[in-house]
Amino acid sequence: MANLEAARVALSEMAVLLGHHAMTKQFAIGDPVADAIIEDNEQDLIDLIEAARTGDIDNATFEDELTALMLALLLQSFLAGAGVADESDLAPGAVVMLDDLRTETTTSAMALAAEIDAGLFAEARDADDRITRTDEAGRDKARARIQLWIVALAGAFSAGRIQGDGSADSDAQMMQWVLGNTIEHCVDCLRLHGQVHDRQAWIASGFQPQGRNLVCGGWNCDCRLDDVDAAQSGSF
Ligand SMILES: [Zn+2]
Ligand SMILES: [Zn+2]
Repeated sequence: MANLEAARVALSEMAVLLGHHAMTKQFAIGDPVADAIIEDNEQDLIDLIEAARTGDIDNATFEDELTALMLALLLQSFLAGAGVADESDLAPGAVVMLDDLRTETTTSAMALAAEIDAGLFAEARDADDRITRTDEAGRDKARARIQLWIVALAGAFSAGRIQGDGSADSDAQMMQWVLGNTIEHCVDCLRLHGQVHDRQAWIASGFQPQGRNLVCGGWNCDCRLDDVDAAQSGSF
């Protein structure tokens, strides 16, 4: 009996592990710096959200810690993308963009804290005490949300990248849109793939990898902009 029970537990643990494996398809945009920031911090983000989801930390602490972590990663990603060491080195347009991203990040962190506080990622039961959402389903839902944060971090890198450091050389740099490994690309990403424009033209176009205004909404976009030594090509 004890052996059977042990086997059942082992099987269910294995199912959870397999489930996690399937969930955590590594998101990467193929830029070593951007991908390293994500890789180095994804587990902290997962652990923090799991601690809040299971009630190991109180909601106010979670909201503070999540906001602090996400704002720190946002800044790190954005500066790495822009290729500057410090916020004071950013061009004025980049500062405006960074501030917008900060507002968005803070709003999202507060929203997630409120949803976790409301039990939306926990086991749920109906009036007859029947389980309507299992704990595993709650955890998977949290993982899906974490995936969105990860893409948003890549988006912060791309946002910084498209701004550059504001120097004349940087503004004149030619950049090419490169499709990521996502199986299905939206019409915008497909059309932009291969196009070459200088940085100022990319900024003016309003298009950036992981951008909200892409048909895909950017949420599944692992495209990137590469610096190239090539002539202008394409018309957005
Ligand atoms: Zn797209
Ligand atoms: Zn894309």
